[in-house]
Amino acid sequence: MPGGEARRDVYVKVAAVVVAILAVSFLHYATQTGKPVLHDLYRRLYYVPVGLGAVWFGLRGGVLAAAAVGLAYGPHILLHWQHESREVINQSMEVVFYFAFSGVIGYFADQERRLRVRCQSAALRLDRSYKQLRRQADLILEIEEQLRAADRLAAMGQLAAGVTHEIRNPLGSIRGTAEILREEFPPGHPKAEFLDILVRETERLNRVVEDFLGYARQGQQAETEACDLGKVVHQTAALTEAQARKAGVEVRCEVPEGLTVRGSPGQLTQVVLNLVLNAVQASPPGGEVRVTAEVRPGRVPGREYREVEGKLVFLQVEDRGPGLPADVLSHAFQPFFTTKEEGTGLGLAISKRIAEAHGGRIAAENRPERGARFTLILPLAPDS
Ligand code: ADP
Repeated sequence: MPGGEARRDVYVKVAAVVVAILAVSFLHYATQTGKPVLHDLYRRLYYVPVGLGAVWFGLRGGVLAAAAVGLAYGPHILLHWQHESREVINQSMEVVFYFAFSGVIGYFADQERRLRVRCQSAALRLDRSYKQLRRQADLILEIEEQLRAADRLAAMGQLAAGVTHEIRNPLGSIRGTAEILREEFPPGHPKAEFLDILVRETERLNRVVEDFLGYARQGQQAETEACDLGKVVHQTAALTEAQARKAGVEVRCEVPEGLTVRGSPGQLTQVVLNLVLNAVQASPPGGEVRVTAEVRPGRVPGREYREVEGKLVFLQVEDRGPGLPADVLSHAFQPFFTTKEEGTGLGLAISKRIAEAHGGRIAAENRPERGARFTLILPLAPDS
């Protein structure tokens, strides 16, 4: 019951007891002593407010109500019945009974109230345990569903990886043959152009095949070791240097060394490389790509699917390119989604899987100033 309503309820009950005592007392004082039957009846009526006081407010309430009755009824006994000492004794005894009655009723009311409070707190605890059980059962169902989906995907992935693997060898032969044939037709020959197309398209197909096989391999458990994210970033920046210079873009790394995460340095390099290359490709000549890192407290994976308080590293790759339109933003992490002519659409999908396999995630957003910001969020190793 809300506080205000409970207080109003108490006031109403106190008023009811007081009014009942006053009403019965009025009847006593207003009725002549010549009508003893009526007085006997009124005397018994006092049990009503005394009983209500005890039921509603326990032992203390009952004794208080009995005392109030004694105070209201006492003068009437002494003033109106002093001529009949037997009646004085009789009626005074009744006042003693009021106290005894209030004591017994109040005692049991208190016991009942204590029991009710215990039952309520037990019900509350039960309800809490039930909700916790429900949450855990839901979690188990969800994990089961994810496992089933993962099983299905793994089977399909294996099939697709098998098919892709089968494509790789004939593709190599086609490319080799095309290159031999190209030598037969010198530049300027009408058929040389077709062979250029053939070589270019087989190269593209080969990239898709390699990327897809890379994507399928991410499903396998990565080897984990302590890995310095700062070092990974600096090594990756060195790898992108040539491409960045060609595009006239500067890559600035402001990530300190010593941010240790647990994972595969090879896979994490692949993620940072994907993000930095995408940013370089999106940047206009003269543009700048910034890689920064920040450590914040957050929930990190603990044991048995539980999350615990820990530290997260937020690695941000920002560019000053055109940013991502809404439809690109919502599909960017889907496998094979690309807006680039030469793209495979697997870079971000692979990066997402690697981040998740490391207990983290990747978020993409547009910077208010212009350009895109990709954030790789990873749990820091506990002793970092
Ligand atoms: P790919 O680079 O082969 O296209 P990705 O999965 O790496 O594949 O990227 C998917 C798509 O996300 C890109 O084709 C591009 O449209 C968009 N994208 C990724 N990074 C950026 C970025 N920094 N700025 C703008 N668009 C981006």
